[in-house]
Order: sequence, then structure tokens, then C-alpha cells
Amino acid sequence: MADISQLALNTATVRMQWNLKQAVEGCLRHGLKGITVWREPIAEVGLAEAAKIVRGSGLDVVGLCRAGLFAADTPQKVLDDNRRAVDEAAAVGARTLCIIGGGLPGGSKDIKAAWGGVRDGLAALLPHARAAGVGLALEPLHPMYAADRACINTLEHATDLCEELGEGIGVAIDVYHVWWDSYLGREIARAGRLKRIVGFHICDWLVPTRDMLLDRGMMGDGVIDIAGIREQVEAAGFHGYHEVEIFSAENWWKRDPDEVVRTCIDRHRRFC
Ligand code: ZN
Repeated sequence: MADISQLALNTATVRMQWNLKQAVEGCLRHGLKGITVWREPIAEVGLAEAAKIVRGSGLDVVGLCRAGLFAADTPQKVLDDNRRAVDEAAAVGARTLCIIGGGLPGGSKDIKAAWGGVRDGLAALLPHARAAGVGLALEPLHPMYAADRACINTLEHATDLCEELGEGIGVAIDVYHVWWDSYLGREIARAGRLKRIVGFHICDWLVPTRDMLLDRGMMGDGVIDIAGIREQVEAAGFHGYHEVEIFSAENWWKRDPDEVVRTCIDRHRRFC
């Protein structure tokens, strides 16, 4: 059974209700030990103040979300922003920086070129990340996002890229994005053997899903065998936090945030 000591709150889950300070206080109030923060709430208060809030809390800062988006029209600008994200992760004491690939540049029909753009962007970013002591967590996203958000869509592809790029980068496995993959078990085992699993994100896939981006479900409300995937991830040697990350414009973002966190804790215990 999942234990609360393994659960981390991704601030996106309560992003409409709580600012950074409130999210940190909420984690502490509910007995959570880990938090994953987004760049937007950090920008709201400024990096120095954010670092004070987060580092002073005693919480484990599991990750910073989010950077990447390399397969874009303006590579230098994107690389500069990614380097700033690494610096922000280091400032708040985040172990990893979460990276998504980016979609196809405007007007392009060449997904292979977009894949190459992601590889080149990561290769250019890695020396800065290694020097800062921030691990990169490459997160494959569900293929419905391939065109406009993230062209790295399978765990296999993400792990292949990590192997090609060397040290300092691993994969974040988000059940929402990979649950459908017939190669998932094989690829979790491979990523584990290669010591590349650096993150595990949880939520659920609702039927029907009403919005591609903002209708993720609470654990237990959908069709994902979260406990089964968690077993595979642990059998592959990953024992880090389970980060609950729910984008839910019409449901969980409209609820009392303390109720949301209480529900996360309860569902994590029962379904993860
Ligand atoms: Zn995720």
C-alpha cells in the first residue's frame, strides 16, 4: 500500500487556489514531505523570495516544472530560457528539472526534424545542468500532444535519447502519458536497468476526457492501473516520490484546496 511519505504535491494540482507560499504551507499542514513547483508561482514572488519560501520549509523539492519545448522556431531563445530554468531549479533546491520536447515548428510537417531539435537542444543544455547539479527529467507526453506540445511520446524514445546524451538526464514516467503503451512494462524495466528513472507522476485518465489538456482525473476516478505501474517502476529500482499532478479546470481547480490535498492523500493510499 502506498504511504503518505512517498507522496509529493505538484503545485499544478492546486494552481488556481494557492500561491507558492500557500502550497508549501498546505503540504506541511497535511503532512506531505515533498513538493514539485512550477516556474509561474516562482516568478510571481521572484526567485530570491521563492527560494526562501521553499528552502525554509524543510520540504523535499522533488522537481521544477517545466522547461524544454526545444523543437521551436527560435532555438537560441529557447536554450537561454532552459538555462534560466536550470538556474531556478538550483536556486530552489530542486533535484530535477522537468523537460518536455516541444511540438513541431510552425508550418513544419517534419516530425523527424523536431526529434532532432529536441536532441540538439538537450545536448546544448546538459553541460549547464551538470555544472549546476540539476538532473534533467525528460517526460514523454501522450501522442495527442505530438504536434503542438511534445514530440517525444514514448518511454522508449525518451530512454533512447537519454542513452544517446549521456549523464545528467533521465526519464519522468507520468502514468497519464504512458499507460496505453503496449511496450510500457518492457520499457520501464529497461529504463530501470539503465538507471534512468528519475520521476514518477500520478493522476488518472477519465472516460470521457473532455479536454486534451485540462481534464485529468484524480487517482481512482479513471482507467489507469496506477498501482500496477507503480509496482513495475519500483521493481525497476525507482523508490522516489509519487508526484500527484492534476490539471483539472472544471473540477479539482474549483474545489477547496485542502479538500483536494486530503483527497490526493486518500486516493494515493487506496489506488496507488
Ligand atoms: Zn507529469
